[in-house]
Amino acid sequence: MTAAKIALVGAGLAGLTLARQLADHGVEITVFDKARGPGGRFANRRTESGVFDLGCQLLTARTPAFTQQLQKWQQEGLLAPWPASGSLTGIGRMSRLTRYLSQGLSLQQNTRITRLQRDEQGWWLQTDQMEFYGPYTQVVLATPASQAAALLPPQAEEMAEQLGRVEEAPAWVAYFAFNQPTGISVALEDDPSPDIRRITCLSSKPAQEAAPELWLVEASASWSQQHLDEKASTVATRLLHLWQTTTDQGCLSHPQLLGAHRWLYGRCHKALQQAYLADSNLGLYACGDYCLGADAEAAWQSAQALAKALQETIQ
Ligand SMILES: Cc1cc2nc3c(=O)[nH]c(=O)nc-3n(C[C@H](O)[C@H](O)[C@H](O)COP(=O)(O)OP(=O)(O)OC[C@H]3O[C@@H](n4cnc5c(N)ncnc54)[C@H](O)[C@@H]3O)c2cc1C
Repeated sequence: MTAAKIALVGAGLAGLTLARQLADHGVEITVFDKARGPGGRFANRRTESGVFDLGCQLLTARTPAFTQQLQKWQQEGLLAPWPASGSLTGIGRMSRLTRYLSQGLSLQQNTRITRLQRDEQGWWLQTDQMEFYGPYTQVVLATPASQAAALLPPQAEEMAEQLGRVEEAPAWVAYFAFNQPTGISVALEDDPSPDIRRITCLSSKPAQEAAPELWLVEASASWSQQHLDEKASTVATRLLHLWQTTTDQGCLSHPQLLGAHRWLYGRCHKALQQAYLADSNLGLYACGDYCLGADAEAAWQSAQALAKALQETIQ
């Protein structure tokens, strides 16, 4: 039997959790990601005014297994309680956790996979630079469902049908730094208006500087869809105005810095309710938050379940 040599596309929480599990059990696995660093929707933006978490803000657990995992990460100094949210958050920034998970992994960053091909030797991954990586015995797609679907080869019909059932929505987020205190006392507010999904005071997180005050405004799925192709600078200004009209807690001064980031597949709206996808004849697998839900716990659970199944297949 040929030793497993796995290619994994996507270094978000799901991909890194899976890769970590398999690598710790001696499996040869290479992780590919199109971004400059690992983390996926745990990513942040560094600016001269501070670091903004652009995606996932806090971690909560519904299941005992994830509760235990969060405790472990907390003990390892990666997470801390965030009183404003009643949950845990990354100390300093969320990507501290995903950076930690990526340590020691074979990680190929800045590498956008555009095509998967299989021949008698195994799987080959093609990049947008027309490079080829392979052959691999198995491929795991740990990207949002829409991005996984775009990579499927024609023979993966069933997986294509399953991925097609998932619904994912975009999320625009705007970030602001203020020199003067805003005077807003609510540090985390979910669904304050139909157009705003969440308002977060990032400076209220543990280990953050008090000044300048850093805020993030996440638009609702419908607002984000409506303004999908607008320029980031226009979106940032629009969301500042929306926030201004939503808050009754004083007048927001002009921010010293503002910007916006678009998550094309920000949040999952209709999950599969199936822990992972597998075509063991092809040696093709998929996992991610959309399998079980729309948050970090769902991503972690999906990856854990697939890691267990792969370990049983490989050994
Ligand atoms: C604004 C926002 C706020 C959120 N807040 C919370 C929160 O507070 N709590 C919570 O639990 N969850 C939150 N979530 C959801 C949470 O972030 C996600 O559920 C989770 O991070 C998904 O992890 P993942 O590994 O499944 O996917 P991702 O993190 O999206 O990882 C997928 C990776 O695949 C890579 N990739 C995609 N296509 C390719 C390709 N072709 N080639 C190479 N690489 C590729 C991407 O670059 C990315 O790194 C939030 C999401 C958003 C957008």
